[in-house]
Amino acid sequence: MRIFNSASRSLEVLEPSEGNRVGMYTCGPTVYDFAHIGNLRTFLFEDLLRRYLVFCGYDVTQVMNLTDVDDKTIRAAREAGKSLDEYTRVYKDAFFEDLQALNVRPADAYPCATAHIPQMVEMIARLVEKGFGYVAEDGSVYFSIEKDAGYGRLVNLDRDQMRRGERVEHDEYEKEGVADFALWKAWKEEDGDVAWDSPWGRGRPGWHIECSAMSMAYLGESFDLHTGGVDNRFPHHEDEIAQSEGATGKPFVRYWMHSNFLLVENKKMSKSAGNFYTLRDLLGRGHSARAIRYALLNAHYRQLLNFTIAGLDQAAASLDRLDTFNKRLEGLASGGSGGELPKFCNDVRSEFVAAMDDDLNLPGAIAAIFRLATAGNRAMDEDVLDANGADAILGLLRELDEVLGFLRCEADAPDRAVQALMEQREVARGAKDWAEADRLRDEIESMGWTVKDTSDGAQLHRK
Ligand code: AMP
Ligand code: ZN
Repeated sequence: MRIFNSASRSLEVLEPSEGNRVGMYTCGPTVYDFAHIGNLRTFLFEDLLRRYLVFCGYDVTQVMNLTDVDDKTIRAAREAGKSLDEYTRVYKDAFFEDLQALNVRPADAYPCATAHIPQMVEMIARLVEKGFGYVAEDGSVYFSIEKDAGYGRLVNLDRDQMRRGERVEHDEYEKEGVADFALWKAWKEEDGDVAWDSPWGRGRPGWHIECSAMSMAYLGESFDLHTGGVDNRFPHHEDEIAQSEGATGKPFVRYWMHSNFLLVENKKMSKSAGNFYTLRDLLGRGHSARAIRYALLNAHYRQLLNFTIAGLDQAAASLDRLDTFNKRLEGLASGGSGGELPKFCNDVRSEFVAAMDDDLNLPGAIAAIFRLATAGNRAMDEDVLDANGADAILGLLRELDEVLGFLRCEADAPDRAVQALMEQREVARGAKDWAEADRLRDEIESMGWTVKDTSDGAQLHRK
């Protein structure tokens, strides 16, 4: 498999350092608000990457952190008049709900920054000891970019443009503002009761050290793969490399992968422009999580993705086409494990794999599936597909859905409990007991399905 390594700015063959084991660290959400669909695009890219690595036989350990203490979370909690823990808990829970709705497979660990302060303090102490870190007058600790000859390696910074010896206090800053950055921030009035003890006095970690310390705590001092959105490249990942390699003297990460931004209606998503969506906003407007998963994945991860409501409707229509194909196959299938694939789909798996091996070319992989649907429908129209063939195609779709997570196949059928509620609702409607019918509809909806009443009777759709 070839992937684009942001560190070398080139396509490279993925070769894990230890056999088939891949350690993968993915920068997680800053839990100061609900994740927006741009964030979710990045998390879906990471889900796809990890699923595909597993599909290829790699033994993946994925760690995703939750940034539950930083400039943004502290400010937001203070403005809401809540403790940091009370405030961030709501968004942590919401984040896991979003991942589940989008059929994202869980990572192996979700470390929270607030639970790993000792590891951060230990790493900062090592950096001070080695001369990379220094303590400022107020008790904050800074990383000296002057001391790190390689600083700027990830994003190709010009050393002459760096403000060496100057400091930047905030976690986020522009390339033009590159300067010594904070490892530890001395307590200030606006931090309220958010503070931990350290050898340099009370304070809190800088954002970047959080990911250096948590990734190394779970994956070791050197590991294979680190991912995030493009905006994480600088300063976050640049600073992570500087800190981690400064502390250990070892290479930190072998492959860096970054997914591009999501635009909404061709514009940067912002609350003021009114084009800012969370998953909840879209579900509330009746869109299905499954179509949202498909729409957010259906572009190469290194391309900008322009999200539109029309595009989301198209995604839903494409899924309907695949569902119809699936249902036809199921109607024909015997339920067995199937024999050999019919000739016309011999190339589908290899086309899918070739596309995904090419730096995760998902649009190419999906095209292979639509070609299969076209050929399969034609074979059924012509009556040349038998039950064994249908079983085999369903088996192939199930296998590929381990990677895609939106084909769903039979797994998408409502379970017995949902079906029973539907039957009760039909009875209630027959008896014109609308209140009971509505109550049952709500119950069905809470189980992840929407009910559409059509002239052919009520239909269930995945939310
Ligand atoms: P944050 O919660 O701000 O720490 O961001 C979580 C993840 O979402 C990071 O990997 C960001 O790089 C990514 N991200 C932020 N905005 C966007 C966007 N508009 N499109 C795609 N990814 C984004
Ligand atoms: Zn991070």
